Amino acid sequence: MRGFLTLSFVLTAATSAFGAWVPARTLKNRGSSGLIDCLDDAGLDPVVYSDSAYATDAAPFNLRLPWKPIALVYPTDTAGVSAAVKCGASHGVKVNARSGGHSYAAFALGGADGHLTVSLDHLRHLSLDGDVATIGAGNCLGDVALFLWETANRAMAHGTCPYVGIGGHAGQGGFGLPSRAWGLLSDQVLSVEIVTADGAVHTASADKNADLFWAVTGAGASFGIITSFTTITHEAVPSVAFSYEFAQYSPAQASKALQAWQEFANDPASPLDVNLGLQAHVNPGDTPTGVLFSVSGQYYTADEAKVNATMAPLLAKLGTPSKTTMEAQDWITSVLFLAGTTGIDSLNSTLAPDTHDTFYATSTFVPQKQMMAPAAADALMEYFYGPGATSSVAWFVIFDLYGGGESVITQKPADFNSFNGRDALYSIQYYGTIPASVSDADGIEFIQGMKAAVEDNQRGTVFREYVNYIDSTYTAKEAHKRYYPTHTPRLTALKNKYDPARVFNFPQDF
Ligand SMILES: Cc1cc2nc3c(=O)[nH]c(=O)nc-3n(C[C@H](O)[C@H](O)[C@H](O)COP(=O)(O)OP(=O)(O)OC[C@H]3O[C@@H](n4cnc5c(N)ncnc54)[C@H](O)[C@@H]3O)c2cc1C
Repeated sequence: MRGFLTLSFVLTAATSAFGAWVPARTLKNRGSSGLIDCLDDAGLDPVVYSDSAYATDAAPFNLRLPWKPIALVYPTDTAGVSAAVKCGASHGVKVNARSGGHSYAAFALGGADGHLTVSLDHLRHLSLDGDVATIGAGNCLGDVALFLWETANRAMAHGTCPYVGIGGHAGQGGFGLPSRAWGLLSDQVLSVEIVTADGAVHTASADKNADLFWAVTGAGASFGIITSFTTITHEAVPSVAFSYEFAQYSPAQASKALQAWQEFANDPASPLDVNLGLQAHVNPGDTPTGVLFSVSGQYYTADEAKVNATMAPLLAKLGTPSKTTMEAQDWITSVLFLAGTTGIDSLNSTLAPDTHDTFYATSTFVPQKQMMAPAAADALMEYFYGPGATSSVAWFVIFDLYGGGESVITQKPADFNSFNGRDALYSIQYYGTIPASVSDADGIEFIQGMKAAVEDNQRGTVFREYVNYIDSTYTAKEAHKRYYPTHTPRLTALKNKYDPARVFNFPQDF
């Protein structure tokens, strides 16, 4: 990962126990005509446990979850993806696609040992026809941004990390600072090419295989392997990046500030321009309390005067910032800035290896109609400024505005696609890197304490969550309740239709 965290580059061999499955090359050595022979016969040259490349190839982004696939394959075209799926299906081995490999739960490796991972690393075609882009599913967000910018000054709304893959991101939402103006990444998809569980290749769009298209633009991991996305693009607009820090805040002041932030975002009398991407952050910091609260964002198409005028009513409630920054940026500079990187080549995911982290994360969608209650905001800030100030877990929390004004995300009908969070005013992402000195259980408990502070103090609200911040601790039942509270019956019926044998499978599948 390159992006909002600065992490050391770690590539360690995954070290979990193997569980019940038999390492693949052992099967081959026994002369098995099983999965590995099938993949070999299809010319897919599987990487298996005994291969020297396995440790690197099977290393998850989240090193906390080193699932061991029985094999990884790297098809070079859709026919190769289809052959791999058929091999998995005919040998009873569960199959998972891997695009950028950034799943918080390492679900591209199956979420359990013994799956077949189909890496889309070689499907990196990119083309632009007028305003419409076709994007091979092995591309990462940085590759797409770079291509659109360099080819025709075009752009899309997507997340900040250049190494996040388009496959998982667009398949399950995909939020970025321009999303209030342009929608989630999955909302910008016009059609996909997808290989289903029987190995067949389909085009799915609003007009063709519309039920499949609905499912894979929100719950993309469950229904097949998307090999290509066709998307709309937008003019690559300039913006102003702004940030206000409040180093002096007490927990009570931070709570009041968060409440003012959400009221500002959700004020019908003064609807926020959709070109404003708005966040709040809380994280450990070099402040008297050890914790820093800040408000930041990216105001597209605006100049500094417009930022100042727009933010003035909120700042009047937040007090004088301890630090203010503001910078006019062209589009690609804003992409680099949000990624926390410099140099246009850093967007090209083929030029340097990805980084890794050992972490747990989870999320909350705060509904537009039931904003965070004062008691919940108080408890949350007391947690951050209390246990958070001294924790050994390297945590951060981001509040991303989805709704407010005429936001394209929340103006779309609730059933526009299978993404099931259209009523969200904002998301909260709770993220913690767990150091070796802290047990997994303690690290997870610490992060979950943040979410509990909200939920325990606002019992009347049913909080949904963001599936791209997938919580590795959830059972399927809990995941469906949180990520697809009203879409689960339809998604389950479509799973029965397109993948009755559960060829594509992970612990939170339908
Ligand atoms: C550093 C970092 C920054 C992030 N920033 C943001 C952000 O700003 N905004 C945001 O919304 N999210 C963000 N995310 C979350 C990110 O959107 C998800 O983790 C996303 O699912 C990763 O996609 P991937 O292709 O890299 O992951 P993968 O692990 O490859 O895939 C994730 C899931 O999708 C499935 N999948 C992958 N490709 C395909 C395919 N082609 N067809 C079908 N299924 C597929 C996999 O099997 C797996 O279940 C961030 C994550 C990280 C690690």
